[in-house]
Amino acid sequence: MEFEHSLAFAKKMDQQDPLKAYRDKFYIPEIKGKEALYFTGNSLGLQPKNTKSFIEDELEDWASMGVEGHFQAKKRPWFHYHKFSKQALANIVGAKPLEVVSMNNLTANLHFLMVSFYRPTKKRFKLMIEKGAFPSDQYAVESQIKFHGLDYDEALIEVAPRDGEHTLRTEDIVSTINENADSLALVMLSGVQYYTGQLFDIKEITKAAHEAGAYAGFDLAHAAGNVSLNLHDDDVDFAAWCSYKYLNSGPGGVSGIFVHEKHANNSDIPRLAGWWGHNEEERFQMEKGFEPMPGADGWQLSNVNVLSSAAHLASLEIFEEVGMTALLEKSRLLTGYLYFLLETLNNEGEKIEIITPKEPKNRGCQLSLFMKQNGKKVFEALSNEGVIADWREPNVIRVAPVPLYNTFEDVYRFYQIVEKTIA
Ligand SMILES: *Cc1c(COP(=O)(O)O)cnc(C)c1O
Repeated sequence: MEFEHSLAFAKKMDQQDPLKAYRDKFYIPEIKGKEALYFTGNSLGLQPKNTKSFIEDELEDWASMGVEGHFQAKKRPWFHYHKFSKQALANIVGAKPLEVVSMNNLTANLHFLMVSFYRPTKKRFKLMIEKGAFPSDQYAVESQIKFHGLDYDEALIEVAPRDGEHTLRTEDIVSTINENADSLALVMLSGVQYYTGQLFDIKEITKAAHEAGAYAGFDLAHAAGNVSLNLHDDDVDFAAWCSYKYLNSGPGGVSGIFVHEKHANNSDIPRLAGWWGHNEEERFQMEKGFEPMPGADGWQLSNVNVLSSAAHLASLEIFEEVGMTALLEKSRLLTGYLYFLLETLNNEGEKIEIITPKEPKNRGCQLSLFMKQNGKKVFEALSNEGVIADWREPNVIRVAPVPLYNTFEDVYRFYQIVEKTIA
């Protein structure tokens, strides 16, 4: 695709976009009476217009039948609610329905999964993450290590970019794994790094972790619904993500987990259990003795947060309709266009350095712009002009054109504002 540097080209791309009708399925926030240029779907995805009716269905059933809604709800009996998202989630993360379930929130799920997959022994006790991981993940990992009575500095391995580089090289991740092969218990990285937008090579990292005798888990908060994932085929042990970023399911929305099929029937894996993970046939017999459901379901604890999950289903319906293939195809073009435009005003990297990898296979839709001059001023100017983007200290602007609702014109207008303000 030969990109062109004009509003007319951007408009032509929008006209030819097979997904153009989807923007209208979302509410676009307004600033000063005009539609905002919303580039923060990586933080909070926009609200689909069908969300309200999904939630209203449940409110009506609750109002009209009370507790009977667990089995009698008109469309989606609450007892089975976690099952309704399985197929769509499986399609998004490249898994079998058995391997996924939506439950709890993300950080809580990381803890529950680490209880199962970070079981340090005297010899094998190290946990590897990327340096600069999302704070919640850092705190989760720190507290897990301390919970096991281990020394944090000794047990934690952080892989860092080389001096002068912003992103990690797969070869460096793999060699760090190999160097610690005798003592490594778990590798837990992001799928897409929240700060740099880098997509890690999940398959290679998982392979290296397994060869070293460690488990491999991924936090897919910035990856689910944003990049191509093949968790089953890549042999990943576990993963978790949130639904309120690219999955558009509302602030604080329900999280999702993946546990590989090979662990599905292993009831020896220790876990923190609750009644919703217990054999469904006997759940209401209320007897002693935990017997986990096969697959990811066996990690559930509580009964489903139905209102949040209703919003989740509304969004997943859109993902099912569009399909990841079409979505990723547009994403590649849309972010590719942004990359192309920003490169043209970049004066040999004097003003803006795009720290996100250029190659589409190494990123999703987000670009992280390392501002070399007047970063905060540019960001404020963008905000004044109706752009909703995201500022990360010390000087990075993150921009995520989301293929479901952003347009090529959005991207072009963003570029124009940046051009004007850094001139
Ligand atoms: C957004 C995000 C979180 C947020 O965690 P919650 O438990 O949903 O508040 C955690 N980790 C990463 C990597 C994230 O991007």
